[in-house]
Amino acid sequence: MLSSHRQILAHSVQHRPIEGVFFGPQQPERLNTLIVGVFHGDETISGELVTHFVEHLQAGQFAQDPIDFMARPTLIIPVLNPDGLAAGTRVNANGVDLNRNYPTPDWVEDNRDTPYYSGAAAASEPETRLMIELIARYQPQKILTVHSPYKVLNFDGPARAFAEAMSQASGYAVVESIGYPTPGSFGTYAGVIRQIPVVTLELPPGLDEPFDPEMPPAESLEQVWVANRTSLEAAIRF
Ligand SMILES: [Zn+2]
Repeated sequence: MLSSHRQILAHSVQHRPIEGVFFGPQQPERLNTLIVGVFHGDETISGELVTHFVEHLQAGQFAQDPIDFMARPTLIIPVLNPDGLAAGTRVNANGVDLNRNYPTPDWVEDNRDTPYYSGAAAASEPETRLMIELIARYQPQKILTVHSPYKVLNFDGPARAFAEAMSQASGYAVVESIGYPTPGSFGTYAGVIRQIPVVTLELPPGLDEPFDPEMPPAESLEQVWVANRTSLEAAIRF
């Protein structure tokens, strides 16, 4: 009854497939919701949680009433950065931070040879171009990206109510800014400039992430799932 199909959307620098799962119409004209995990390859918990969510949706298992995906076409990409995930690095295979590579007015080539390298040019990376193409083609009404390790809900563009709907479900605090400048970020590109509501779900660190006393305590996939399951559904229902 629930219609979903998996599709290879693009390939990474090292030619790994970047897969997405569409829920709803076979050929959606527009997306209601776009959900993306693992911009940063070392934030493994984000991919685990989004993959777990996809599996539950495909099995028709909802925390609340079933979501009407025909009315809310949804695309979920568990892993945008498969090369970084394979290598255990924040950056992609070209050493670029995929959350600093968007063609925004504030983009600059910066932080070379660091995990925050913005790339040789804006939109230099295939993973970035995929996101730009998806937004142009499907004009999503709202976008959720999943990161770690701050354990907050951050938002860009007209997304405060969207973030608060998720916060109601998870108890994670809503913060307007993550506290440091992020030129060329996805949130600036899609949220601030295109005015698409963008929420960034920052999970706590996963158990395999390096211990950092400045960060919230690490949590297991099960803990993060229990805390965020209804919140993820709320992101689609909102
Ligand atoms: Zn991140």
